[in-house]
Amino acid sequence: MGGAQSVMDADVLVCGGGVAGTMAAVAAARHGARVVLVERYGFLGGNATAGAVAQFNSWQTANGRRVVAGLANEVVARLRSYGGAGDHQVFTMSTGHKMDRVEYAPEVLKLVLDDLVTEAGVQPLLHANLLDVQSEGRQVRTVRLLTKGGIVTVRPRVLVDTSGDIDALKQAGARFLALEDGEALQPATMMFRFGPIDFGRLAAVPAAEIAALARRGFEQGALARAALHSARDPFSQDAWFNISRLGIDATDALALGRAEIEGRRQAWRAAQYLRSAVPGCEDGRLVAFATQVGVRETRRVEGEHVLSAEELLQPAQFDDAIAAGAYPIDIHPAAGGELVYSALGDDHAYQIPYRSLIPTTLDNALVAGRGVSATHQALAAIRVMTISMAVGQAAGTAAAMACAAGGAVRTIDIPTLRATLLRDGACLA
Ligand SMILES: Cc1cc2nc3c(=O)[nH]c(=O)nc-3n(C[C@H](O)[C@H](O)[C@H](O)COP(=O)(O)OP(=O)(O)OC[C@H]3O[C@@H](n4cnc5c(N)ncnc54)[C@H](O)[C@@H]3O)c2cc1C
Repeated sequence: MGGAQSVMDADVLVCGGGVAGTMAAVAAARHGARVVLVERYGFLGGNATAGAVAQFNSWQTANGRRVVAGLANEVVARLRSYGGAGDHQVFTMSTGHKMDRVEYAPEVLKLVLDDLVTEAGVQPLLHANLLDVQSEGRQVRTVRLLTKGGIVTVRPRVLVDTSGDIDALKQAGARFLALEDGEALQPATMMFRFGPIDFGRLAAVPAAEIAALARRGFEQGALARAALHSARDPFSQDAWFNISRLGIDATDALALGRAEIEGRRQAWRAAQYLRSAVPGCEDGRLVAFATQVGVRETRRVEGEHVLSAEELLQPAQFDDAIAAGAYPIDIHPAAGGELVYSALGDDHAYQIPYRSLIPTTLDNALVAGRGVSATHQALAAIRVMTISMAVGQAAGTAAAMACAAGGAVRTIDIPTLRATLLRDGACLA
């Protein structure tokens, strides 16, 4: 493969190589589109790798009905073939609710995502930062990227913004949803790797005692949140801990930098507490920080439909449903130790409509991942990686279809989109 040209044409430009973006790029390429996938780091995965989240949550309803599959399943199967993912587990959370998950090794996920894009024929453009976007009226025309070799201009038929912060749509002049009174952005978290852990001893500690240890750590100021959440690394006696809490707007460059520094401090303090107070952790050390602080929420686009918490809780049925989910509304308050966690019924799954992927002000753009058009509360459910992958697959499939119509994302045939997704193994309800 040669060097990047200074001008590139693409059917679909996917901006942001997190799990949503990678699934979008692979789906679009598998459906025949020429795809460029832009990512600022030298690897794909976003929060899933750079943020070291290390567990895919909520594949099924509480009674075991599968609601996320498709490309996300393929990711897990490939992780397992490298030995980089554990079994599918159902566990009881500290809140008493049932949850299911697959723990994985973030480093192996990088390889899996590399394999997926390479095999699909996606053109990755790594170490590329969004510079700006030129639109004419409702059409995105060009996207400029800052790369090691200089500025690269991409001329896409369809732009899929999966940058999490939806920087490209911001540049393209899209409109965004505001927080309501009393709402705040979910905090960011610096994940950290800690080990070795005697998992046998740790697992033998009753849940009530773990909750008491977490509460004590929080009250003593050793933990920024009253939790000891972790995901085990499949290769070692280590786990990735999700304990720090940083109340910031991660689109503010200075605040983001401060959060990285404060996040490492919080992680260090938490690691000392684990060593001193938590059974099974006495011999452990802080082994690594995540590459960057993990960001739960920033911008949400104003889309043709704004998915609401009420629609998730009913659940509303949509003719244009393109993905489903069963993760509860899970709000980490910016201050204080407790989660706001709304459990769903045993067989409760909700749907995500295609219209929530379409920015109101643009004709040839889509969004997927944590920037979709949803209220703050609804995003607190649908932001998880399983659902982000499902929505990414749908966005990529739709973008490939839209190319045939010159990039017009509103005119694609919805029954054909849904039938294609079902054929490709996705769950829509
Ligand atoms: C601490 C934490 C814990 C979580 N726990 C869980 C969990 O246990 N289970 C679960 O399933 N989900 C969990 N989540 C949620 C989940 O990780 C995210 O919501 C999900 O990964 C979002 O994926 P995404 O692809 O939309 O965005 P991101 O992962 O944010 O990906 C965006 C990508 O775009 C790139 N990018 C951004 N801006 C630019 C730019 N200007 N130019 C070029 N590239 C750019 C980024 O580098 C990144 O790769 C957690 C999230 C956090 C932060």
